[in-house]
Amino acid sequence: MKEVQLFINGEFLDNGDREMRDNINPATEEVISRFPMATQADVDAAVDAAYEAQKSWEKVPAIERAGYLMELVELLQENQELMARTTSEEMGKPLSQAMDEAGWLPAYLQYMAAQARHLKGQIIPSDRPNENIFLYKMPIGVAGQIMPWNFPLFLIGRKVAPALIAGCTVVLKASSDCPNGAYEFAKLVEKSSLPKGVINVITGSGALTGNALASNPKISIVTITGSTEVGKKIMKAAADNVTKVSLELGGKAPVIVMNDCKLDETVDNVVASRVINTGQVCNAAERVYVQEGIAEEFTKKVIEKMKTLTYGPALAGDFDMGSMVNKAQQEHVDEMVQSAIAEGATVACGGHKAQVDGKGFFYEPTVITGCTHDMRIMREEIFGPVLPITTFKTLDEAIEMANDSVYGLTSSIFTTDYDTVMRAMNEIKFGETYVNREHFEAFQGFHQGVRQSGIGGEDGELGVEEYLETHVCYVDWDTERNKA
Ligand code: NAD
Repeated sequence: MKEVQLFINGEFLDNGDREMRDNINPATEEVISRFPMATQADVDAAVDAAYEAQKSWEKVPAIERAGYLMELVELLQENQELMARTTSEEMGKPLSQAMDEAGWLPAYLQYMAAQARHLKGQIIPSDRPNENIFLYKMPIGVAGQIMPWNFPLFLIGRKVAPALIAGCTVVLKASSDCPNGAYEFAKLVEKSSLPKGVINVITGSGALTGNALASNPKISIVTITGSTEVGKKIMKAAADNVTKVSLELGGKAPVIVMNDCKLDETVDNVVASRVINTGQVCNAAERVYVQEGIAEEFTKKVIEKMKTLTYGPALAGDFDMGSMVNKAQQEHVDEMVQSAIAEGATVACGGHKAQVDGKGFFYEPTVITGCTHDMRIMREEIFGPVLPITTFKTLDEAIEMANDSVYGLTSSIFTTDYDTVMRAMNEIKFGETYVNREHFEAFQGFHQGVRQSGIGGEDGELGVEEYLETHVCYVDWDTERNKA
């Protein structure tokens, strides 16, 4: 049985008498590895290692830090298939999607390595003669980074790469649903010439390990990608030390479909935005508002398309969807569907938990019609392959319903009228809006949520900024005193 180990200060630790948990393949229900629950002492040791490494890492020229990232790029590219299979096995993602994700990880490191040439401060004229004001951008310090399970490879890059390029060292905590991918990554870090302690990788529970990381006083920034509920706990844990938080939390993305959209393209994009990664994506299409004039035709085509989708064990064939990540997630999705039925909506297709060969936590691709905006299914995150649909008459109405959410991560609109597009871009209050395309962001963008979807963000130059703080220096450079 594969045993995951903690990776602290460049070394894998013996598991000794640490509590070990089983890691389960959600498609077959087999135990595929065991992983350690890092204790408070382990977290402190990992943070201490990062804190010591920080002192010299921040002095390494940025372009040399980029060189270390490029070394990891090469190792990750050589191991793309291993990384992809590991992820498919432990979280159920179809292999073709896992291969994509295992490719994005080195591509993202490569993108961030190029940011080394773009780190810059400012020199500002003073109100006094012979004085300059320098705005230095300094690495913030050790980053505590807490991972979800839904993109367990790509998010390693999204967390680690901007921190390292900014001059920060990291302690990365993997999700308990996906410890193996992070462990394989740690093995590649060990193989590389990266100085010890710059990247530390640990596993363990949220309540103990995650909380110990968020509340450690030597951490300068704690970043999580995860649920809003856990984001709030992390804010509280960070508050005692006034630690900066960067929170990428849940979403409930509205999709507005106008009468004048390109119908077939829209249907394809909406379905793709719902079922990629088996619907377990923070920016996925979570609720559809379709204008009355095309509601019937649009809904019919969505149902037809959803009915064609296949699902099965990620490593056993080329399926559109895999299993849900675990039984709890499968139960959650089903509970949301049951709530919609109880509130008067109709299951137009799917609507059931499923197994393949008597095993696994699958869920049928599902469309729910007859929804109203106040139903739970239209307001709470589903995080599965279930698409609830409701209708509207005017754009005003649609924008109002879209904005009426505690979440504010992503949103989209489908229309051929660019006045409508401009209104949507100005009036939809979300971190991201996709116009006539699927819900998926770019490395060079800025992935961030408003309201309870988060604080701060990731990707692009602004993503690197999260790991920098400003040091202002006032320099009087030619006073009479200096001349004397
Ligand atoms: P989760 O919130 O259950 O767990 C995320 C991480 O937090 C895990 O590593 C967990 O161990 C840790 N954790 C749990 N309790 C903690 C605590 N008290 N202190 C510190 N750490 C703790 O989320 P998940 O189920 O892994 O992921 C799904 C959620 O993530 C969804 O809500 C989804 O929308 C969100 N998500 C958001 C984004 C984004 O970019 N905004 C991206 C992907 C996923």
